[in-house]
Amino acid sequence: MNGDAAKSEIKASLESYLSIAKDATFAYERFLVIKKRKYLDSFIDQIPFPPFEVEIQMSSKCNLECSWCIGDEVQLGKKVLNLSNSITNDNVDNIVEGIISCEIGGLRIEAVKFSGFIGEPLLPKAETLKAMQRLVGAGKRVGLFTNGMLMGPDTWDTLLNIDYVHVSLDAGPSTYYWLKESKKSPFSNDSFDKVLENIRGLNEARKSKHNCQLKINVGYVVIPGNHNEIYHSSRLVKEAGADSIRFKCDIGGKHDLVRGKALDHAFEQIYKAERELKEEDVFSISAIHSKNDVKSKKYSLWQCLNGCDYQHFLATVGSDGNLYLCDHNTMPGGIPLGNVIDIPFKSVWESDRRNYLSEGVKYTCQCKVCPPFGNRVNFFLKELRELTEKYGAELVKNALSDIA
Ligand code: SF4
Ligand code: SF4
Repeated sequence: MNGDAAKSEIKASLESYLSIAKDATFAYERFLVIKKRKYLDSFIDQIPFPPFEVEIQMSSKCNLECSWCIGDEVQLGKKVLNLSNSITNDNVDNIVEGIISCEIGGLRIEAVKFSGFIGEPLLPKAETLKAMQRLVGAGKRVGLFTNGMLMGPDTWDTLLNIDYVHVSLDAGPSTYYWLKESKKSPFSNDSFDKVLENIRGLNEARKSKHNCQLKINVGYVVIPGNHNEIYHSSRLVKEAGADSIRFKCDIGGKHDLVRGKALDHAFEQIYKAERELKEEDVFSISAIHSKNDVKSKKYSLWQCLNGCDYQHFLATVGSDGNLYLCDHNTMPGGIPLGNVIDIPFKSVWESDRRNYLSEGVKYTCQCKVCPPFGNRVNFFLKELRELTEKYGAELVKNALSDIA
């Protein structure tokens, strides 16, 4: 086969992935090709490169008990143990400095996200804010995923300087207590109101800061029960000053939206919110999973038996200071790849231990469901690998340049 014919074949194959991505709400594959091309080239050339983003999970404790969270089991202490909370005011600098100084093959870590698989990053507030300030000062893109309860005025000086805050609201005023709280105290709307008040406060502070780049996004896991409050919550969130609301289904599978009419009702409300509340450059509404994705369980298609290349692009530090395969492996039983409190990030990333464990991901991955980004890009990255084996790296990179 001549070079042109081979290139056409590669383009056709890659375009099938990128065209799906174009239609999807979150074009993860296209994002990699357009925004993270240098990392992708290193992957194709099989030369070492750092992740473009690191997630730090500052805590494995939470002040809420969402019904879909593995943390629910953790906090009740009945079935599993949680990771230790080892990140302190004294050692958080070790993690942060390791991230800032990590440079491999001319590439650096560009972004850091503070989040939690089974914990709230603002519980160790001083440590999280301190880490953010240092990372912002070093020019990193910084984001926070939080349940919003602890995001009060004492956090705003720092949060106004980061790139985005994602508040996991996940319910409306009537369902927040039932789905997210411990029920140890009588029913009240206080927590829901508190989160909205914090969004409102952060937005007001943002308006008074010159040239503030902060985006405030809200997340909403749709399950049977809170699906009836989608429109109402979207309106309240918009009024509070958020820039967007994003809906997704419970990929952990504890709640079945498909049974009964909940899925149809949920999407009716999402469409209604889109029609009535969406406003260009003011407020956007999106659904990570389409109705068909939910019906066909497309959100959990990738199996770790097929390997995992997502783990090379996004890294996760658990609350015990260890690096893990991904943000869904920071749980009891997850296999630590090395401790980035004690050892510089770069050394752990390039260590024989990490190489060995990440190569054998089908044995080492402890989670059956990939994060949404991983569930999609693993298919695309596998195809890139196969095309590279068949046609060579230069031709594949060439074809990517043509279609990007
Ligand atoms: S806020 Fe997040 S970490 Fe806390 S219980 Fe809910 S889902 Fe789990
Ligand atoms: S769960 Fe995580 S480590 Fe396992 S295959 Fe998915 S992205 Fe990779």
